[in-house]
Amino acid sequence: MQYRTLGKTGVDVSALGFGCMRLPMKDDEVDFEQFSEMIKMFLDNGFNYFDTAHGYHNGLSETALRRCLTSRYPRESYLLTNKLSSTYFKTEEEIRPFFEKQLERCGVEYFDFYLMHAQSAQNFQKYVDCKAYETAFELKKEGKLRHVGISFHDTAEVLERIITTYPEIDFVQIQFNYVDYEDPNVQSRKCYEVCRKHGKPVLIMEPVKGGSLVNLPKEALALLPAGSPASYAIRYAAGFEGVFMVLSGMGNMEMMESNIRTMHPFVPLNEDELAATDKAREIIRQYNQIPCTKCRYCAEVCPKNVPIADLFAVYNEYALAPHAAGPQHFYLPLSDLSDIVKPQYLTE
Ligand code: SF4
Repeated sequence: MQYRTLGKTGVDVSALGFGCMRLPMKDDEVDFEQFSEMIKMFLDNGFNYFDTAHGYHNGLSETALRRCLTSRYPRESYLLTNKLSSTYFKTEEEIRPFFEKQLERCGVEYFDFYLMHAQSAQNFQKYVDCKAYETAFELKKEGKLRHVGISFHDTAEVLERIITTYPEIDFVQIQFNYVDYEDPNVQSRKCYEVCRKHGKPVLIMEPVKGGSLVNLPKEALALLPAGSPASYAIRYAAGFEGVFMVLSGMGNMEMMESNIRTMHPFVPLNEDELAATDKAREIIRQYNQIPCTKCRYCAEVCPKNVPIADLFAVYNEYALAPHAAGPQHFYLPLSDLSDIVKPQYLTE
């Protein structure tokens, strides 16, 4: 197993992290049996990093981790990350009670890592106004969390401002994959370079772009013959210097097995493979897909319960293969969930 030391913290983390945002579900509950098997396989293969947030599965991710991980395994056998999301506090006073609730829901006495969640120019101001960073640093001193980081969604300029304002943060989690590398909105490369400039270890989220780099157009697929498309995407992200962890949201045993094969042992992409991902990027971008990562934050605030991420996924499938039966098959049941208008091309 390849472990990487998280900067100055000295903590050894496995190069693959288990993102608990898209867990296996059975009816409206997490599929505990499958989740437990996945956790066992993950730990048995030497991986140790789990990532959750209160909003994942509307709180069910935290409690599923308590049931399937923290109540079953010794505390020192895994690393657990949770996050302070802006949805759950309006004032400084509300942060500590929320944090305590997260500890309780996860069934632990401390978090190894705690992130200021989804930082952007807009969000950051709220965190500054509510002294969220200061509160996290105090909790660190009290031993209730070990390390403070941020997860980030904005331009490199905003990231520079945040790191300069709070140089104490231990690491940064950015959206990074071979398609978004030069994307003018996501700015994967530029954000990565800001982290490197400030000596901040980088944690990668969305290496497979919310799963959208799994189903590639045929021309792109032909360029990547030596493994699954997901394995190329993960190896791409994990191969950059200063990247200590690639998170993957794993929703079933098959994804878990595939990711373990990719990362155990880890072999970075060689020059030819990197050139192939560059070419694949150009092909994928021609399809004008919506850059949705299925984080589902929008679902939490949509007053009409529009399943935005699922609809975008259907649209993206349609963009890649307009004559396939899949998009229509998946769209029609989704459209019944809300008042949205059915586009003509799917209802004719
Ligand atoms: S559209 Fe919604 S699910 Fe997709 S990336 Fe944006 S907030 Fe996340």
